[in-house]
Amino acid sequence: MLDVLIVGSGINGLSAAALLSAKGKKTLVLEQASAFGGAIRTEEITVPGFHHDLFATNLSLFAGGGVMAALKDQLIANGLEFVPSSKPYCSVFPDGKMIGVVMDRDQTISNIKKVAPEDVEAWQALTAKLGLLAPHLFPLLGTELPSIAAVKILIKAWRVLGISQLLELIRLLLQSSRAFTDEHFSSPEMKALAATWGMHLDYGPDISGGALFSFLESIGGQEFGMVLGKGGAKVLVDALCGVIRSNGGELRSDTGVVEILVEGGKAVGVRTSTGEIIKARSVVANINPALMPALLPKQIDSQTTPEIEKLKEFRPGLATMMIHLAMDSLPNWVNESAREFNYVHIAPYVDEMALTYTHAAGGKLPANPTLVIGQPTVSDPSRAPEGKHILWIQVRVLPLEITGDSAGIIQGKSWDEIAEVYADRIIDNLETYAPGIKSQILSRKVLSPTDLERYNPNLINGDSLGGSHHPAQFFFLRPMPGWIRHRTPIKNLYLCGSGTWPGGGVGGGSGLMVAKLLS
Ligand SMILES: Cc1cc2nc3c(=O)[nH]c(=O)nc-3n(C[C@H](O)[C@H](O)[C@H](O)COP(=O)(O)OP(=O)(O)OC[C@H]3O[C@@H](n4cnc5c(N)ncnc54)[C@H](O)[C@@H]3O)c2cc1C
Repeated sequence: MLDVLIVGSGINGLSAAALLSAKGKKTLVLEQASAFGGAIRTEEITVPGFHHDLFATNLSLFAGGGVMAALKDQLIANGLEFVPSSKPYCSVFPDGKMIGVVMDRDQTISNIKKVAPEDVEAWQALTAKLGLLAPHLFPLLGTELPSIAAVKILIKAWRVLGISQLLELIRLLLQSSRAFTDEHFSSPEMKALAATWGMHLDYGPDISGGALFSFLESIGGQEFGMVLGKGGAKVLVDALCGVIRSNGGELRSDTGVVEILVEGGKAVGVRTSTGEIIKARSVVANINPALMPALLPKQIDSQTTPEIEKLKEFRPGLATMMIHLAMDSLPNWVNESAREFNYVHIAPYVDEMALTYTHAAGGKLPANPTLVIGQPTVSDPSRAPEGKHILWIQVRVLPLEITGDSAGIIQGKSWDEIAEVYADRIIDNLETYAPGIKSQILSRKVLSPTDLERYNPNLINGDSLGGSHHPAQFFFLRPMPGWIRHRTPIKNLYLCGSGTWPGGGVGGGSGLMVAKLLS
């Protein structure tokens, strides 16, 4: 009999399986798709020889996380290779200005000085603040919530930092990106530079809670840089699968689970799409919480059934579109030093981000959406033929259901109808920042929000985050009261993935927490 059966091979399912099989547990991973990895997948999707990360590309969370620490030697033995970048990101603006954040603090200061000398002091103060808070914040992100361990971390923070700094930290957790950037910066460019990181999650500038990400990611880029997978993010998936197999675990692709079997209030196994019944002592679902009710029996008991129904209220974040480009050369950014960075952000300013967010939330296609433009071949040339490049364009914060176009031009209410014409708008917008970009494109592949969900049902309506991260569904409330700490109201059934604490991203944190529960 299997010790642990894992439904879904996302970063958290694979991390749990790798950790548990390394501990000698008999483990099986079932994946409905033809490839493992969920929102991590690398393919030659445009032209042979151009290796695109279809979804996630930045592996920094994993590289600095607990799964890596626990399995480092085994992962490396199974082929894991990272490519670090000391020039993680920059923001470019329509008037040609650009601010780049690099790991050399003096160089970052000199870059800021050129555009926003009035904000240099605030940047330095925030750098010092991250140094002060990091020893308390990062352990909290790796701890079950709510828990005694988390309370201990907070008590330690109170002892070390004092009550006023602790209250400052709590204030930061509740602040919006706009309030945070208004408080610290004067220039519109520095405000935008930090607030764009909130948009990576689902924090429009006026949503409470966005400050934490604007702060951690903007300053964190300078302190920690960025990490990519050598040859593509798939190298991480392959290494995790290698660890699972080398420890006797098993993985099966093209095997969807249609039901989690529950007997006497306990999970006992699953039924697959081919009707096969597979029994296990424990079942771990690497599944978007909103999809769980469909996998569980309609009636369990009068207490559990309403708890399961509650998950239908779990809210998605707004949608994402991906545009993958095979390029003859790097874009001719107006400020040519933007060519050196892994991410180029175009939002461009806080007010535009707020409009984008409001339009998208109301179903309208944004006129100037927030763009995260990955240039992975800058640090990893192995992903394209010699001298050629790829661009990874993430169009952030789009409607889950389209009701119209904020620019009043595009007709059509489904992504299948309008994805290409909307992608044309993005490329047209890019011409302002990188003149001539159209003529450099060798091939393009657009993955609309609907395509994202086709690849991975967890990405409901193209929500790349596996559920909104607004405060009502975050921290000790993720995914829902009653479904916390990766346990469920059903014995022997555990939940991991981006819909659970500590949320989205290629970190593996919830897989690690579940593995600890089952070890
Ligand atoms: C376009 C995009 C870009 C991103 N960029 C980044 C980035 O650069 N850096 C970063 O840190 N994060 C990024 N993210 C977020 C990050 O990739 C995800 O939060 C994370 O990978 C999700 O992992 P997960 O464990 O929740 O599982 P998922 O990736 O959601 O995988 C779950 C797996 O379960 C399978 N499954 C679902 N239902 C069933 C079933 N019934 N039976 C069998 N299998 C099933 C799915 O097919 C899927 O393979 C990005 C996400 C997207 C979509």
